[in-house]
Amino acid sequence: EKSDVINFNPGPAKIDASVMAKAQTELLNYRNLGFGVLEMSHRSAEFIDIVEQAKTNLRELMKIPDNYKILFLQGGATGQFSAVPLNLLNLSSDATADYIVTGTWSAKAAKEAEKFGNINIVHPKLKKYTSIPAEETWQLNPNAAYLYYCDNETVNGVEFHFAPQAGNVPIIADMSSNILSKPVDVSKFGAIIAGAQKNIGCAGVTLVIIRDDLIGHQLKECPAVLDYKLQADMNSLYNTPPSYSIYLTGLVLEWIKNSGGVMSMAKRSAIKSQLIYSVINNSNGFYHCMIDDDCRSRINLPFRVGGPGGDQELESLFLERTKQANMVGLKGHRSVGGIRASLYNAVTIEETQKLADLMLAFQQEHA
Ligand code: PMP
Repeated sequence: EKSDVINFNPGPAKIDASVMAKAQTELLNYRNLGFGVLEMSHRSAEFIDIVEQAKTNLRELMKIPDNYKILFLQGGATGQFSAVPLNLLNLSSDATADYIVTGTWSAKAAKEAEKFGNINIVHPKLKKYTSIPAEETWQLNPNAAYLYYCDNETVNGVEFHFAPQAGNVPIIADMSSNILSKPVDVSKFGAIIAGAQKNIGCAGVTLVIIRDDLIGHQLKECPAVLDYKLQADMNSLYNTPPSYSIYLTGLVLEWIKNSGGVMSMAKRSAIKSQLIYSVINNSNGFYHCMIDDDCRSRINLPFRVGGPGGDQELESLFLERTKQANMVGLKGHRSVGGIRASLYNAVTIEETQKLADLMLAFQQEHA
C-alpha cells in the first residue's frame, strides 16, 4: 500500500503507484522465470527484450525518427556533461562548442566541457538565473561542434518554450527534468540527454537520443563507457548496464503510453503549473516567482513567500504547514531558497490542486 503522502520531490521523484506495484509484483519472480530482473543476466533473451521494448515505446512516444539511436548509459546526466564534448568536439576543426547557460545545470555542463575544448557562452553571463537571453542576441559560432543548452533548469525553474536554432550546428539539449512532458520535434536536435530519475524512471540510467551522423567522432581519450559509437554498436550493452533502472524506465514508458502519451502529459502539465502560477499571480505579491513570464518552468516552480526576497519565518511556517498536509519535497534548492514545487508527470492534477488550495488558505491566514 502506498501512503497518502504527496510527493513533490525534485528528483529522484514520484513514480506512479501502478508502476511501483507492478515492479513489486515482479520483484521476486519476473514473468514466471523464478527470479527477478535484479538477478537476471544482461545478456539473456529476457533482458534484451526489456531493452528493446523500452526503446520501441520511447521511439513511439517521442516519435523518434529512424536515423536516431537510443542509448541507455550510466554516470547520470552529469556523466553526459563529459560525454557530450568527448564525443562531439571533433565535429569542429578546433574543438570549439557553444553553450547557453541559464541555470545551475547548464553552468555545470559548460564548466565540465572546458576540460576538453574551447567553450563559448553565446550571451553575456547572467547575474541571476531568472531569464533566457533573447535568441537574436546570441553570438553563435557557425563552426561550433554543437550548441548546448538545458531545456528545463530544475534548480532555477527556467524552461525553454521554444527550440533554439543554430543553422547547421547540431543542438544538444539536456531534458533531464522535462522529457516526455511535452511534444518535442526530435529531428530539430542533434542529441537529447536525460537522467531518468524525474520523469522517466529511477536513478541509475541516463538516456541519450542521438542522430546517427553524430556518432563515431569521439576523441581518442573518450572512456569506453561514454563512447557513443561503442555503446550504439553494442546496443548499450558494452558493459553491464543499469539493468533494473532500464526495466523500471520501461514500466514508466508503458504507464505513459497507457495514460494517453505525451500529449496527455503535456495537457496535465499545463493544468498543473497553471494551478500554482495563478495562485502566485493573484496573490498581490504574497507569493513571488522570480522567473520571467516567458520562461517559467511548467515542471519546477520556485517561489518565495511574503515578498520578492522571501520572509524566512513565513517560509518556515509554510513548509511546516505543507508537512502537516503530508506534502514532501517543497523546500527550495539551497542556492535559490524559498519554495520549489516539482510537478513531474507522476504528480496528479488532484495533488497539485491540494497544494494550490493550501497556498490560498495560507495566504488568507498570513497576508
Ligand atoms: N541536468 C538536469 C536538468 C538535472 O535536473 C540534473 C539532476 N538534478 C542533472 C543534470 C544531473 O543529473 P545526475 O544527478 O543524474 O547526474
